[in-house]
Amino acid sequence: MELIKGENLSKTYNLKISLTTSIKVKAVENVSISISEKEVFGLVGESGSGKSTLGRLMLFMEKPDSGKVIFKGVDLSRAKKDEVKDARRRMQIVFQNPDLSLDPRMKIYNTLKEALVCCKYKGDFVERIKSVLEEVGLSSETLNMFPHQLSGGMKQRVALARAILAEPDFIVLDEPTSALDVSVQAQILNLLIDLRKKLNLTYLFISHNLSVVSYVSDRVGVMYLGKLVELGNCDEVFNEPLHPYTKLLISSVPALYMTKKFFTQNHTALAENGEENPSGCRFFKRCPYAKELCRVKEPELDGDKHKVACHFA
Ligand code: SF4
Repeated sequence: MELIKGENLSKTYNLKISLTTSIKVKAVENVSISISEKEVFGLVGESGSGKSTLGRLMLFMEKPDSGKVIFKGVDLSRAKKDEVKDARRRMQIVFQNPDLSLDPRMKIYNTLKEALVCCKYKGDFVERIKSVLEEVGLSSETLNMFPHQLSGGMKQRVALARAILAEPDFIVLDEPTSALDVSVQAQILNLLIDLRKKLNLTYLFISHNLSVVSYVSDRVGVMYLGKLVELGNCDEVFNEPLHPYTKLLISSVPALYMTKKFFTQNHTALAENGEENPSGCRFFKRCPYAKELCRVKEPELDGDKHKVACHFA
């Protein structure tokens, strides 16, 4: 059963490039995704491809310029204030860097208490916080500590606990393991998988790391310059990629291991290419299969379960 759906979402920002000049940057353009209950939907793409913006649009943290978000059957752009407020409580986010998302001056107890105050929890705060801490693998001694006294992995567990305290149905995980050591990454990924089963959670898992996404996700979407270029079951997309960009990503990096450096390095070139060919396929300049049609006509995301935006896939 569908939990959340983004329909034709678009978002453009004005980017100031000098004192007098600004340019319009299309961060997300006409993107639609639908996520079922208890599903993990992975979103991959290089830095600046629009995946984090799409995550924020799905949470209604930012209003789209056009398109709509439907959460549990309610269109949030037309919903009453109370309905939006309730939906927001049911949707949470965990950011990449817990150092930036946790207040360094607040003890962990106070940070977590805030989450319960926000969702007007009526029960015993201490009991509830202790039980959630246990669920994320932390002891109650953590409650009297400040963030700087915790390791990176522990801080990310606190961030997860804060999200879970609101009893959400849907969590956007925006690069939740990117700032952590590799050994800790595996622990956090396994914890996320366990929590999903235990609490019946639904995730939108955003990452530049294909191996991480393939490990946790049921379905995956590949984003390129603000658009979805491929979407399908994880196994299909990674074992039989259809879009030349997805193929490039997979073949460029040994053992499906994508480093942040790889994506950052490629982004500048990719962005330029997209701007150079605004009327046709965004991947035109780099694509080994490009034909004249690709220069003049932008391909639509098409297909049944495994969708691709390419004229010649
Ligand atoms: Fe390459 Fe053309 Fe497909 Fe774009 S539409 S990915 S340029 S073959």
